[in-house]
Order: sequence, then structure tokens, then C-alpha cells
Amino acid sequence: MVKVVSIGAGLGGIVMAYEMKDKLGRDDELTVVHLGTSYSFVPSNPWVAVGWRKPADIEVELEPVFARKGIKFRSEGAKRVHPQENRVELNDGTFLDYDYLIIATGPDLAFEEVPGLGPEANTQSICMIDHAVQAKDAFDRLVAAPGPVIVGAAPGASCFGPAYEFAFILDTALRKAKKRDQVPMTFVTPEPYIGHLGLDGVGDTKGLLESAMREHHIKWITNARVTRIEADTMFLDEVNEDGTVKMQHELPYAFSMLLPAFRGVPAVHGIEGLTNPRGFINIDKHQQNPAYPNVFGVGVCVAIPPVGKTPIPVGVPKTGFMIESMVTATAENVAALIKGEAPRAVATWNAVCLADFGDEGIAFIAQPQIPPRNVNWSSSGRWVHAAKIGFERYFLRKIRQGQSATFYENLVLDMLGIKKLKEIHMEAAE
Ligand SMILES: Cc1cc2nc3c(=O)[nH]c(=O)nc-3n(C[C@H](O)[C@H](O)[C@H](O)COP(=O)(O)OP(=O)(O)OC[C@H]3O[C@@H](n4cnc5c(N)ncnc54)[C@H](O)[C@@H]3O)c2cc1C
Repeated sequence: MVKVVSIGAGLGGIVMAYEMKDKLGRDDELTVVHLGTSYSFVPSNPWVAVGWRKPADIEVELEPVFARKGIKFRSEGAKRVHPQENRVELNDGTFLDYDYLIIATGPDLAFEEVPGLGPEANTQSICMIDHAVQAKDAFDRLVAAPGPVIVGAAPGASCFGPAYEFAFILDTALRKAKKRDQVPMTFVTPEPYIGHLGLDGVGDTKGLLESAMREHHIKWITNARVTRIEADTMFLDEVNEDGTVKMQHELPYAFSMLLPAFRGVPAVHGIEGLTNPRGFINIDKHQQNPAYPNVFGVGVCVAIPPVGKTPIPVGVPKTGFMIESMVTATAENVAALIKGEAPRAVATWNAVCLADFGDEGIAFIAQPQIPPRNVNWSSSGRWVHAAKIGFERYFLRKIRQGQSATFYENLVLDMLGIKKLKEIHMEAAE
């Protein structure tokens, strides 16, 4: 009997559990360790923050769906991974032994790196469902007493899409509330240009997003290093290409949502060989940790080097489809190791992203995510908003039904020529 433990049941971890279970034998055991009993669809958090969704609309209770699939579930959360002993310590003090470990713990949110940042200090967040609920209260206060708004990201951030999304969604929500005319909006970002997205742009994301921001009366400051945030004022340095300070800004605000930089979660941070200095899981092209070959990483928790140098650090985003490709490769590779074969599957890391503006949006495909690319495409329109709603419903239904991929999804991806895995067939043929 093989024991597989997977930590984290977020966007990557749930699909991981379904795909891994399908690959295991009848006597093998798969246990998912998660913090809490439910999954919440993170991409809908911006809608929760303006009241377009309630938390219950986007949550799934995991115990029944995992039980139906024969997957064991522990909701206590992992306190510490002990890779030299092949076991995971849980928050209740018990231990789980494993033959193979998959880490899908998402990000730890580094709010304290900027004084005054975060929902326990002065700014809002949409990274977690509880943060989005708190942001909704702040949004209600903004509607009642309009004032300046700052949206954006802190130095070192990597997940820029949701920051842009939220700026446009807030714009739409304020227009609907007939308060937009009383709310000057500024977008503040460490990216060297609008639409860089941590990817050095995709297609014409620079042109599309700049134009959309002009149309929606959103001003911006790029190369921005937010240094300190007080209750009603944000302090930031705008820097030149060589990193020297070009201008210092003191921006008043009534409402602000800034995404923090990410790092690895405490359960893995600082484990020699397993993680890099920021606590992200070191992986090779097979999603396998070089120091502990029976440990794999998928999702936001893995280490990926930045795309080129920027005056202020920006990370590479790890988006949904890219994460699913890591999951599929990991399931293939763990199954290969169990059979005594070498891991061969390599994720494509293609980025397929829909950024919603509340009534329209932009979409982009970067194939592969890191340039130079074979596909470098972006587009905009009302169809993006409709597609995002469709994707939310489809993904949540898929999770509730215990499915990882379906005929429909495969057909659409095949039509677009987008694959989750590369090289497996090529390497197998060698
Ligand atoms: C607001 C927002 C919107 C986004 N929108 C999109 C989008 O529209 N499209 C897109 O492609 N990407 C989007 N992303 C990027 C990415 O797809 C998501 O961040 C996605 O949720 C990442 O999946 P993950 O599985 O790596 O991490 P998560 O979904 O964050 O899941 C990690 C899980 O692990 C759990 N965990 C953490 N520590 C432990 C522990 N010690 N023990 C047990 N469990 C633990 C966490 O509680 C969490 O549930 C968005 C990101 C954000 C923040």
C-alpha cells in the first residue's frame, strides 16, 4: 500500500487530489490535509468585496466530496513538514507518514513587509474570503462617505491580474451606486509599466490596460515602492529605471486595496533543500523537489524565477490553468515513481487568464508563460465578463461533482491548441 499525502485544498490542491486518486490503486491511500473544512473559489473574491457574491455562493464543503471519492481528509492543517522523516506534523500534534508528499499550500501573505499594509492594519485585501468580506464593509463605508481610492500592489508582489480586476470592478460598482464622480482613483504598482503583469506583458496588455484605465478615469503610478501606510495617507517612492527615487508621493485615501508580496507558508518555510529563501518549494521540471525526490510542489507555493530584472522586484504570477498543468504533471510523475519508472511529465505552464472588469474585461494567453512565446495573445470585450461567470459556475460544479477534467474542457482546450503536458510523449518515445 502506498501512502500519498497532499497538503492544501485550494484551487490546485483539490484538482490534485482528484487526479491523484484516479491514478492510485485500490489499496493505496490518499490523505488531503487542509486548513478548515471548506474550499472557497479565490478568483471570485473581488466580487465578494463589492457585494456581487456572498461567501456561501462560492464555497464547497470538502468532507462529503472527498468521502465520495474515497479520499481521506484532515482539516487540522499542517504545522510542519519533516521531509527527512517522511512525515507531516499536524496542528493537533498528530503525525501523518507518507511515501509521497504533494505540497499545494498556496501563498503566505507578507503584509508586515510594508508598515500599515493589510486588513489588520490600514488597507483591504481580496486574497482570502475573510479579507473580501471585510473589504465589503469598507466598500459600504466608501459608498456612504465617498473619497479617494488607491488600488494596486506592494513591492515584490506577483499576482497583478486581481489588482487590475479589482480596480475596474470597484469602478463599475461605484458607477452603479452613482458615487464614481466623487471618487478619484489611483492604481499603484511596482510593475515597470501598466500591463507588465509580472510576465513582461502578454500580447498588447500594456495598450489594452492603459487605454481601459484612461477610459475609466483611473490614474496610475508605476515603478512604485509603497513604503508606509497611515490611516488616511499612503507614502510611496516612484523610482527611475536604475532604482533611484524619481519622486516621493503622499496620497490621501478613504479606501485602499493593495495586494501583498507572497512567500511560502510557515509549515515549509526555512526547510533546507525543500524551499528557497522566501519559503517557496524548489522544484525541477517534473514538479519534483531535488533534495527530497518523493516531495512535489504545485500552485502558488512553488519557486519560479522572475521574468527579467525590474527596478522594483516583481514576481511571476501562477495562474489557474498553469496550476492545473502542474497538477496533471505531478499526478503522472507520482504514478510513474510508484510503478518504479522515472518521472517524465512536464507541465506546460501556459497562462490562460480572464480579467473581469465587472461588465467587460480582458483575456490573455501566454504559451508558454515565460517569454519567448509561441502564443502571445490578448483581447478585450464584454464576452470576457460572461466567460468569467461561466468559468466560476463550471469550476465549482466540477469540484462539487469530484471531477478534475471533462470531455467539454478537453475539447475546448484541444480546439485552442492548449495542452497541460508537454514532453511526456516525446520523452517516452526516446
Ligand atoms: C484574488 C485573487 C484572484 C485570482 N483570480 C484568478 C483568476 O481569475 N484566474 C487565474 O487563473 N488565477 C487567479 N488567481 C491566481 C491563482 O489562480 C489563485 O491564487 C489560486 O487560488 C492559487 O491556487 P493554489 O492552489 O496554489 O493556492 P490556494 O488556492 O491559495 O490554496 C492553498 C490552500 O492551502 C491551504 N493551506 C495553507 N497552509 C496550509 C497548511 N499549513 N496546512 C493545510 N492547508 C494549508 C490554504 O488554506 C488554501 O486553502 C487569483 C488570485 C487571487 C489572490
